[in-house]
Amino acid sequence: MNQDDLEKAAIETRSVHAGNSLDPETGAVMPPVYQTSTYAQRKPGLDPKYEYSRSGNPTRDRLQDCLASLECAQYALSFSSGMAAIDAVASLLEPGDHVLASRDLYGGTYRLFTKHFSRYQITFDFVDMRDVDTVKNALKENTKIVWLETPSNPLLTLCDIEVLSLAVKEHSDKCLVVVDNTFATPVLQNPLNLGADIVCHSVTKYVGGHSDVIGGALAFSRDDLQEKLYFQQYARGAVSAPWDCYLTLRGIKTLAIRMERHCANAEKIAAYLFGHDKVKKVHYPGLSVHPQHELAKKQMKNFGGMISFELDSDLEISINFVSTRRFFTLAESLGGVESLIEHPASMTHASIPAEERRKIGLKDGLIRLSVGIENVEDLLSDLEEGLNYI
Ligand SMILES: *Cc1c(COP(=O)(O)O)cnc(C)c1O
Repeated sequence: MNQDDLEKAAIETRSVHAGNSLDPETGAVMPPVYQTSTYAQRKPGLDPKYEYSRSGNPTRDRLQDCLASLECAQYALSFSSGMAAIDAVASLLEPGDHVLASRDLYGGTYRLFTKHFSRYQITFDFVDMRDVDTVKNALKENTKIVWLETPSNPLLTLCDIEVLSLAVKEHSDKCLVVVDNTFATPVLQNPLNLGADIVCHSVTKYVGGHSDVIGGALAFSRDDLQEKLYFQQYARGAVSAPWDCYLTLRGIKTLAIRMERHCANAEKIAAYLFGHDKVKKVHYPGLSVHPQHELAKKQMKNFGGMISFELDSDLEISINFVSTRRFFTLAESLGGVESLIEHPASMTHASIPAEERRKIGLKDGLIRLSVGIENVEDLLSDLEEGLNYI
């Protein structure tokens, strides 16, 4: 497959072929795992393409080419975790800089910003990104990054990437717009095409898709960002290992088809929960009652596999509900082929102080589903069993 032919191909085709140049030595169809730390050199000082696997590895290069193609980017960098990718971007900041971030942010990102980077005289504000005027008013002269997460975790709120990117660029051409695209995946949403500067992913989730690897990625198209972020990748050293790159590439081959099933199953489950009298509230952008359903239709190709909801009952019953499902495993993380269920207030979002959680509307009884690719009738009957018990 000539990689140039791929540029205009659909995402289903790119997720199978992108980055997968045939092995020149054997013609192997799958990428070899270059499990090596170093590379023999012919003579000192020739500046070979590969010299040490922290600075470059052919398996990682294939994954990076693939990720760039999926996000319609010129460049992608692969990291040992989603947090390592986020850390690399935040490491571009300097003392005195300010960051404006979504109010309902992934717990780990919130922790990294407020507990680590705040020690370097970098300040953070967390605002409701649904409203462009709120964002405009919160932009400061020293704002260097606007950090968006859409759909957000766990409340599935959206923000308008295109409108916000425009507003930020009007304010300052020195301010980067970064979008955490983990929930949507490149199959459903391409932030760079909407004006963002950098896309980040926890590839641990949908991109890898099989709950067997921790990884992260950045994608972007500006040459200056490639220079600066490649420096972060190789100087700080949080690179992904060859085997993890291979597993991620293997997972990506089915990304488009997996997303189809994740979305179809989630849409049915969200509709079922919405119609159930023991369910107080359902957060899913595919529901026509979702406050940003129109934006979801404009910005995304489909509505994703994540749902959160509140039961019309007390906390104890919610805890019991998440602990007793048959097909939904009680676990953190998301985006794998298997369905997962969790309780954000005590699990994934416990690092956000209770008062902050209340402010953003993250109720103590909220339950989050990562809807897998199982048969949807099995998933529905499992949920029904739990709801009947209440
Ligand atoms: C999981 C996740 C991260 C962090 O990624 P890791 O691979 O766990 O380090 C960041 N953002 C979002 C939205 C996530 O779901």
